[in-house]
Amino acid sequence: MASKVWYAGNRSYSPATSYVADMLEVFEAAELDKLIKPNDVVAIKLHCGEWNNTAYLRPVYARTLADKIKSLGGRPFVTDTTTLNYNPYPARVTELDMRFTAERNGYTSEALGCPFIVADGWMGTDDVHIDLPEGYILKEAFIAKAVAHADVLITLTHFKGHPMGVIGGALKNLGIGAQSKRGKYNVHLGGHPAYGMGATTEFHPERCKGKNECPTWKLCRDCCPYGLFNVKDDTIEWKREKCVGCLAHLGATVGCGVMDIPREPLEGLHAAIADACMATVKAVGKDKVGFINMGIDVSPYCDCVMYADMPLVPHIGIFASKDPVAIDMACVDKVTESEGTPGSAAEDHDVAGSGAKKFENAAALIHGLSEQAQINTGAIIGLGSKEYELIKVKPSATKYYGFTEDTRPGGARFKKLFSKEDPFPRDRFNGQGFKREEKIDFEKIR
Ligand code: SF4
Ligand code: SF4
Repeated sequence: MASKVWYAGNRSYSPATSYVADMLEVFEAAELDKLIKPNDVVAIKLHCGEWNNTAYLRPVYARTLADKIKSLGGRPFVTDTTTLNYNPYPARVTELDMRFTAERNGYTSEALGCPFIVADGWMGTDDVHIDLPEGYILKEAFIAKAVAHADVLITLTHFKGHPMGVIGGALKNLGIGAQSKRGKYNVHLGGHPAYGMGATTEFHPERCKGKNECPTWKLCRDCCPYGLFNVKDDTIEWKREKCVGCLAHLGATVGCGVMDIPREPLEGLHAAIADACMATVKAVGKDKVGFINMGIDVSPYCDCVMYADMPLVPHIGIFASKDPVAIDMACVDKVTESEGTPGSAAEDHDVAGSGAKKFENAAALIHGLSEQAQINTGAIIGLGSKEYELIKVKPSATKYYGFTEDTRPGGARFKKLFSKEDPFPRDRFNGQGFKREEKIDFEKIR
């Protein structure tokens, strides 16, 4: 059966069609407000952005949602989880680092009007174990405790590409983002005998120039948090049997020909993301999880890289649904039908035309990875439906915009104050207020 996906369009041309107002429109149209009862603790799960990433969602969206949840009687908190050491210089691996990064990106209690909570705790080991017999590849998952224990979960997702996942949507926001650190090892297939990074990476130590000739050898020595690399004078050793798949070496040993990026861990990851999303929904309760996808700044790579490239396509719009599979499918379809952004990676890879698959050609780390594998897996395991009905929301005239602290028009609000102290200096220059030329030549400056 087709799932409903509510959609607020991709243009913003008035206060009523601001993306903030659009988000509230689809939130209510999809009846996500009805998930929340008075005193419910409501997790707003988002990606707070890596150090120097600039495409992550501005905090105003989470703030607005938190205010809305409070108006419904709920107790919101905004949350994200610690990461693996997925590059040599990660900035969110511990709660300490993550708070520093999140606050630098604007995710403070002051900005949000509610706490920002690292859902899996100091080390990323605060979690809840979920059995997953229905999983396609995972048979268990470890859900970040603050998410698993929430009464309601609103998944606020920046929809974009992802180098490993190919797409970063609602499925990935929970399938990676709601997993604890050990949950992320599980989803990345760390230690998997057939698809793990240790089992599948092609390793050519004979190509290593070693300490004698490689100017960056120290990074290879120091990139792995488990110390699995030993750089020698003219070669390198790797204890691959102990590899847990954290990916930290990708920014060090890959690129010189000594190690490749194997395909199997990435394809396995796609299936595991859908499984782990399913586990998150099970932990909170199927009728207690809602999804909002913000299809803006659709960068080729995820918010977990330390930069953000030009969007692959112009904004695709704001979506909401109770089905994570359907909402991601709708977003992928919108990106496919969109023209690519001139000068973007879509153009670089010759997929800028409407109808071309942008993500698997311009975002995926390895050519040929499917941009639908997460979605297909989600449909296979019964998490949701690839069939969807896209319902356009009509913006209401004044419902969701305005300065909520005082909703009266400016004249009514400031008449009394301005009568006490008029900011316009009427006592100067015969009431004109300022010293200026009476006439100027516009032609000269046109
Ligand atoms: S693996 Fe590559 S980057 Fe690392 S020391 Fe050897 S040659 Fe240098
Ligand atoms: S070798 Fe394995 S454990 Fe070490 S950084 Fe690479 S993926 Fe992580």
